[in-house]
Amino acid sequence: MSFNSLGLSDPLLKAISKKGYTEPSPIQSKVIPVILEKKDVIASAQTGTGKTAGFTLPILQLLSDGQQFRKRPVRSLILTPTRELAAQIYDNVRAYSAYMDIRSAVIFGGVKANPQIAALRNGVEVLIATPGRLLDLYNQQALSLHKVEILVLDEADRMLDMGFQRDINRILDLLPPRRQNLLFSATFSKEIKRLANKFMHSPQYVEA
Ligand code: AMP
Repeated sequence: MSFNSLGLSDPLLKAISKKGYTEPSPIQSKVIPVILEKKDVIASAQTGTGKTAGFTLPILQLLSDGQQFRKRPVRSLILTPTRELAAQIYDNVRAYSAYMDIRSAVIFGGVKANPQIAALRNGVEVLIATPGRLLDLYNQQALSLHKVEILVLDEADRMLDMGFQRDINRILDLLPPRRQNLLFSATFSKEIKRLANKFMHSPQYVEA
């Protein structure tokens, strides 16, 4: 299996080779084609399996293939439980989108909001966020969510463990109903299944 055969565009292949990756990891080989088909996906994957590129690469491809908007509204929202994970995903998105005209930003709690609000001001297509700070900045009208096409819940089990269930429910209510949903989790408790059932449409199951 090669990255070429997964149907990724040249700017992404260039970024991948700059990263030094020679072939997709097992989760990437399985999940990338399904995401590119615009299906909802529930993926079981631990950290370290390459799951971040597994969702980031196809999202960037779908966004660059789709309609662009002058104001650059958020078109993909990636929710993750901690600031460390958020920062890591942001670094990945930046690296993979290096040769594309796509803007991204990261927002998380525990630091001043003003620099984050400034980063959002000119529009970003990909927003990586922890749930609390996202709601905080949304309530301050620092961002809009009415154009979100692709939602990712990364490390969904940890988000529930950390008590983000209510924030996630509130965020789901703010998103347009027609969108693609991706849920990544290392474990699948009853709570995760209940959450997935609530907002996903005929999800495909993918395991690393
Ligand atoms: P993740 O599971 O997304 O946190 O990724 C774990 C590590 O694997 C990160 O340091 C990635 O940069 C790296 N990685 C992701 N995909 C590949 C790949 N196809 N080949 C080699 N390394 C990779």
